[in-house]
Amino acid sequence: MKSKTLALTVLSSAAIFASSPTFAQTVKITPLGSHAFELCERDRATIFEDPTGVRILYDAGHSVTGGDDTRLGDIHLVLLSHAHGDHMGDRKLKALEAGSCEKVDTISAAPHSTTAEIAAAKHSAIMMVTPMGAFIAKKIENIRGKPVGNCPEKDGVLNAPFGASCQANAQLGGARILKAPGASVGVEITIVPASHDSTVPRELLTDPQKAALAVDNTSLYLGPPSGYVIKFTNGLTVYMSGDTGIHTEMKSVVSDFHKANLVLLNYGSSAISAYAATYAMNDLIKPAAVIISHVNEAATQGGKLKPGSRTAAFIKLQKRPVHLAISGRTMEFDGAAKCVAGCN
Ligand SMILES: [Zn+2]
Ligand SMILES: [Zn+2]
Repeated sequence: MKSKTLALTVLSSAAIFASSPTFAQTVKITPLGSHAFELCERDRATIFEDPTGVRILYDAGHSVTGGDDTRLGDIHLVLLSHAHGDHMGDRKLKALEAGSCEKVDTISAAPHSTTAEIAAAKHSAIMMVTPMGAFIAKKIENIRGKPVGNCPEKDGVLNAPFGASCQANAQLGGARILKAPGASVGVEITIVPASHDSTVPRELLTDPQKAALAVDNTSLYLGPPSGYVIKFTNGLTVYMSGDTGIHTEMKSVVSDFHKANLVLLNYGSSAISAYAATYAMNDLIKPAAVIISHVNEAATQGGKLKPGSRTAAFIKLQKRPVHLAISGRTMEFDGAAKCVAGCN
């Protein structure tokens, strides 16, 4: 009798737990590409929204119009994986839908970059490896006319919104917790390694520096390239690969330690081959699902995957659901990385 009562109590508390809002809620992931409801060659920017309301922009790149992009909404934190122009945003869309999906029409975003423009316009915190963070902070200062200090931290937590842009930069492996007003738990963001390069486009440097480096056809290296792991409050753990080749930390850091269950994969042939990316998904990380972006081609037409595309060939090799990062379409994921709305 006693054990029956106990079993009932356990059952009813399990039912309450399962129906609690935190578990029922989803993380919303919205790619911001050059052309609505397509996956195009320059598409990079992605917005993540936690159930508590925290909103994070990852790699602004070329597929936004800058700080005035009407699709952005509130942005509490801006992440940047590395200094390459297609991520930092040395160029920006001439206008939404400018050019075609195969050949997007962009204009220069120098001297600021889309990353700095957006962080300045939205009073966002920035979190990236420290040398690159210092570079972006200087650009935000140039836009806003005042220095960008460190974000106030209380008991190891950053509390959004910030009121003014601030720095929450860290080294590879560094982590921050970001909390929405009134939330009991925060989102945990960790910078993780990538195997790539992080040299800034010369266009984003000041004139004397630009001229000096042009002679040798080189530029500045702004610290190591990175990816990120974000643990959202509903349990979803997303690995954003950044541009990267295959590397051992995909298993040790991303899978074994962080237990990422969703991967936002940058699929670019100069960084990773189809077979290496497939091995990374199937043997190293083994997530529940993958979102594919950074495909460097017009992967869709009329919102549908082009059968002859490189992206289609890659998807055929996969053993798990692969969702296309379709611009303007919000995908919703539960804590187990199951897409419950907005996926293909
Ligand atoms: Zn790159
Ligand atoms: Zn890239």
